[in-house]
Amino acid sequence: MLFKSLNGISKKVNFETAVKKGLADDGGLYFPEHIRPLKKDFIENLENYSNIDIALTVLEQFIGDSINKIDLRKILSNTIDFDFPLVDLGKNIYSLELFHGPTLAFKDVGARFMANCLAYFNKNSSKLNTVLVATSGDTGAAVANGFYKVKGTNVIILYPKNKVSEIQERQLTTNGNNITALRVKGSFDDCQKIVKNAFLDKELNEKFNLTSANSINIARWLPQSLYYFYAVKNLKKDNLVFSIPSGNFGNICAGLIAMKLGLPIKHFIASTNLNDTIPRYFESQVLSPKPTIQTISNAMDVSIPSNFIRIQEMFENFQDLSSVMSSYSFNDKQTLEAVKKIYNNNNYILDPHGAVGYLGLKKHLESCSAQKTGVFLETAHPIKFANDIEKSIKVKIKFPERINGILSKKKKYYNIVSYNNFKTKIMSMDFY
Ligand SMILES: *Cc1c(COP(=O)(O)O)cnc(C)c1O
Repeated sequence: MLFKSLNGISKKVNFETAVKKGLADDGGLYFPEHIRPLKKDFIENLENYSNIDIALTVLEQFIGDSINKIDLRKILSNTIDFDFPLVDLGKNIYSLELFHGPTLAFKDVGARFMANCLAYFNKNSSKLNTVLVATSGDTGAAVANGFYKVKGTNVIILYPKNKVSEIQERQLTTNGNNITALRVKGSFDDCQKIVKNAFLDKELNEKFNLTSANSINIARWLPQSLYYFYAVKNLKKDNLVFSIPSGNFGNICAGLIAMKLGLPIKHFIASTNLNDTIPRYFESQVLSPKPTIQTISNAMDVSIPSNFIRIQEMFENFQDLSSVMSSYSFNDKQTLEAVKKIYNNNNYILDPHGAVGYLGLKKHLESCSAQKTGVFLETAHPIKFANDIEKSIKVKIKFPERINGILSKKKKYYNIVSYNNFKTKIMSMDFY
């Protein structure tokens, strides 16, 4: 199977090329030229398959000949070695916890998969690759962890100054080795702009062999469809609806792919914070981004969701799209009220992103007449947002053992104020 560019000019490429390039030469995102539904028998008996077997079956049509089956199984085993538990919160509502990976971020799966794929594709190459990634908090940490000490690869992370939490900043800036952190004066969108400019910059590309690790890269994006398979495997219920706390809309887009592959999911809710470009689109059918607003669910502080074009690609028209997807926006006050309510009722601590997901799910379920089972994606561990959460529930969150060492490590980053400043900085760096 090949991937086409959504700008329609560049020619189709296989998985390996799409992963290495990130973005097509015409600037378009890559998208599968077709999506072949999986066998009914497989979908109906997911509980008989291991998580790795499910991953193989789901992903093999996209990967084609780019990776042989034995190596793909190895890559998947390196990627998926933690759980995706569902927590029952009563009233047919479940939290799908996606934060059990090494950096406590749902992005660990995509980042580890991509790192493993690139290491595999480059195993015989003497060229040094540079992975450039803009992060609103969690992506950078997951990518840094996935690529840490991967031979032949440097990682440069750009994150917005004062707009990530303390733990997130530590996860970004304390790795050392082949990981470099750049602290950018501005918003996440400013970081993303620098990355986009860098990819259009011939001089930089020649010197650094740039690759993107944002969710525009299919290796980061596609494996996220596995979460939905694991949820359906464990839940075994009909009439499922999923609410996804959304920023760049990669995760929800992967969910829609899972549906196209045959998962029996009835509806998707894209839950956002005040960065409400898509909720407003569902009302007006017009995309009119506003400046990014800083919120407590900072990984979703995105006003131009880069994956939305992939979602539009999957549907004939707006009618079609809105029959399976809705979108709602919530402010920080509502988010913290939800955190408090779920803590008081269920003794369960949400993070701000999961709380937005919960709110969207509630709103949708209240508008439905039929009985449905709702799952919201809990995309981060609450400890990353301890300040806001502890203030709200007046309880100290237990520090997860996995990241115990991080508070004693020294932060190291370079300050960046503009594209030219960025370019000068990295051109002057002596990487190896
Ligand atoms: C990245 C992220 C999101 C948003 O995911 P998208 O795929 O960009 O929509 C939500 N929550 C957390 C914690 C994240 O890190």
